[in-house]
Amino acid sequence: MTADPSPGPRSPRGGRSPRPDGPVSILICPACGTKNRIRPSPRGVPACANCKATLPWLVHATDATFDVEAAAQVSVVVDLWATWCAPCRFVAPILEDLAREHAGRLKVIKVDVDANPALAQRFQAFSIPTLVVMRDGGVVDRIVGALPRPQLAARLAPHLPPH
Ligand SMILES: [Zn+2]
Repeated sequence: MTADPSPGPRSPRGGRSPRPDGPVSILICPACGTKNRIRPSPRGVPACANCKATLPWLVHATDATFDVEAAAQVSVVVDLWATWCAPCRFVAPILEDLAREHAGRLKVIKVDVDANPALAQRFQAFSIPTLVVMRDGGVVDRIVGALPRPQLAARLAPHLPPH
């Protein structure tokens, strides 16, 4: 047992206040293979530090980091999944593929529902996979269950920003 020695009033407790600069994700550039350390940004899209290619934006969020990750200008798909869920494993590579295809227009945020019960509740992920499509912070569609790639792409198409 240790007393909290920090004098400041904003000392982080229980991870409830993420640092202002937010979490960092490693995004691998499909063009040159460079590993880019990317912070969430409410404006713009991530680009490769080496070759300037627009990076596929797929990150893992937690109850603590979700809101800063979801504040993106592009369309957001929240993938509520769990390690034991077979249909989730079916959907995962399809989402990775769509994130590559729609780099610069789509951000995929993966949320492990077992590790992040608050988000599971907030998005009512009673059955997984549940995909929640968001634009400008608001929910615009919910897709419950695994869809094959063509159907999933068709559901997302109307929610993607124009080229
Ligand atoms: Zn690159």
